[in-house]
Amino acid sequence: MDIELVKGVGKVTLEYLKKLQIFTIDDLVEYYPYRYNIIKIVPMKEVRDGETCTIRGIIDTEPKTTYIKKLNKLSFRVVAENYLINVVIFNRAFLKNQLKVGRMINITGKYETKRNQFTASDINFEVINSSKIYPVYHLVSGLKNKIFTNIIREALTKNITLEDYIPSYLIDKYDFLDKYKAAQIIHNPDSLEHLKKAKVRTIYEEFFVFMFKMNYLKYKYTLDNVGIQRTVDRDEVDKYINNLPFKLTEDQLSTVQDIYHDLTSKERMNRLILGDVGSGKTCVASIGMYINHLAGYQSAMMAPTEILARQHYSSISKDFAKYGIKVGLLVGSLKKSEKNKVCEGLMNGEIDVLIGTHALISEGVEFNNLGLVITDEQHRFGVNQRSNLQNKGQMCDVLYLSATPIPRTYALTIYGDMDTSLIKTKPSGRKEIITKVVKMDKIRDVLSSMLNEIKNGHQVYVVAPLIEDEDGNSDLNDVIKLKEKFDMAFNNKVRTEILHGKMKNSDKDAVMEEYKNGNVKVLISTTVIEVGVDVKNSTMMVIFNAERFGLATLHQLRGRVGRNDLQSYCYLISDKDVPRLKVMEESNDGFYISEKDFELRGEGDLFGTKQSGDMVFKMGDIRRDYKILVQCKNDAKVFVEDNYVDNFNSYKQFKNLIKEIEFID
Ligand code: ADP
Ligand code: MG
Repeated sequence: MDIELVKGVGKVTLEYLKKLQIFTIDDLVEYYPYRYNIIKIVPMKEVRDGETCTIRGIIDTEPKTTYIKKLNKLSFRVVAENYLINVVIFNRAFLKNQLKVGRMINITGKYETKRNQFTASDINFEVINSSKIYPVYHLVSGLKNKIFTNIIREALTKNITLEDYIPSYLIDKYDFLDKYKAAQIIHNPDSLEHLKKAKVRTIYEEFFVFMFKMNYLKYKYTLDNVGIQRTVDRDEVDKYINNLPFKLTEDQLSTVQDIYHDLTSKERMNRLILGDVGSGKTCVASIGMYINHLAGYQSAMMAPTEILARQHYSSISKDFAKYGIKVGLLVGSLKKSEKNKVCEGLMNGEIDVLIGTHALISEGVEFNNLGLVITDEQHRFGVNQRSNLQNKGQMCDVLYLSATPIPRTYALTIYGDMDTSLIKTKPSGRKEIITKVVKMDKIRDVLSSMLNEIKNGHQVYVVAPLIEDEDGNSDLNDVIKLKEKFDMAFNNKVRTEILHGKMKNSDKDAVMEEYKNGNVKVLISTTVIEVGVDVKNSTMMVIFNAERFGLATLHQLRGRVGRNDLQSYCYLISDKDVPRLKVMEESNDGFYISEKDFELRGEGDLFGTKQSGDMVFKMGDIRRDYKILVQCKNDAKVFVEDNYVDNFNSYKQFKNLIKEIEFID
């Protein structure tokens, strides 16, 4: 069924869905909530003065509109059980027509006994029993959660077929829910218990598909593993290395050796370079491309975002210019004529190295003699894309770069089909970032330390978990209030600015520009801001409510300072004694931190389900769901071995998966 046929999906909505990469019904059904809100109706006698809760009432008077400064305010009365209560809600003028006398509504907000008034933060019209679970989705601005939820639910009432990628014998073995039923529960849960069952099933399937592809490719490669054997003068490679403006670290050198070995041996290279951000992976990958070039082959490098692709392009084309190596760029935003020109250059061999986004694997991109494929930020690509690019060249060698430090155990599970090279040490000259966990009552020390950095001409990042505390009853710090507090503490003498995801792009850019050129000294933001931030003059990171963030996020945030040879600092502000914060004090090493993270998962302090950088899967989380992952790995291996010879004839849906990874037309 076409997505346009779902009730509620018009032209405008269709555009929003496209932005979310939702093109088909399957995409829609697989667009999972990132969390759930649970609304519980509280009986009036349990409502406490000043506490946030949800009550149910019947509208008794028509809403009146008044304005307080620029704020629109609706006031009306409701009958809740035997009580008559005043309700006010700000900035929801659009609700007015729906607030009809006699209608039953659920009101979330705070009750003030003295004025017998409920200040609502939200009003909901759904008839619910005593509690209800609401899915919450990551959406684009303009598309409301409610509307989106309705669209998905509407789609699920249609007679749609969802391809099930769990073989039936495994569904029986684990007593899994039916796929369709699971989808319905995920988007409209009736109980937490059912939700859990539905999630486990969905995660298993997601992992199983991944592990199937892995095992299939591995099995196939072991049957057929002959690659390009190059003859390359090692002296030429060493000359290149000696001409670099710095000395390679030991780990970089041994990784180069691994690559040299792979490229000159007759087996096909299938190697992963694991290394923290800034450890020098790209530099090593460039040497790989140089070796490949010496042997007369083209290279391609694929990055997950256009920004990264352009960054690589500008630095690599500069490095290679001295050697007469011609580098091309292929990204989605190029004009058709520009793309055509690049494609021509590739085909006739004028371009030696191509750098780009997934535009690289689009149809019409043909190489002259592709020998090496590199994908950066490996984990963000599906197995499909990797394999597609590989198939652009006959048996070409492949190298993956991953900046997500994951423990060896995970690496072996997920990338078990590859050889790995580890770059553990950072280039010398970088100082460890001094990290301290600080309680809120010692905030003055942090302030004076901040002032000290600013006095020395440096800049500071501040991160808080919330943008604005709308109902004002959370104990979490928010960006808006922190700015007020800092401005007061610094007597308005230090320029601070805020940055968060709800700001207009032009405003964000303006703030970033002012921070980059050093006019803004303190940047107060949430974690959701785009990471691309690279301001070498920043020497301090202050994270409020640090207990709210997972280690992967904390490590990534801290990585924004310490980007040159200045001493940098990180303060983790928290009143809670959370063991993982100690880990941050102990080490700057992403691998160490990720190992510890794994160990500490048992403590049940996992915040949220997905941390940036780990988003391989839509619902599964390789850390949280590690046991399921391992189970899938074993199950998929047996499944592939049992059905390979028979060409998966009893499993039509898997034939399709194989087509995807093999790029068969
Ligand atoms: P990664 O890809 O792992 O993030 P890069 O290769 O981009 O790391 O290196 C980060 C920065 O460090 C670049 O500016 C690079 O030129 C520089 N660099 C790489 N290796 C070294 C080294 N051995 N010594 C000093 N600087 C280095
Ligand atoms: Mg080889």
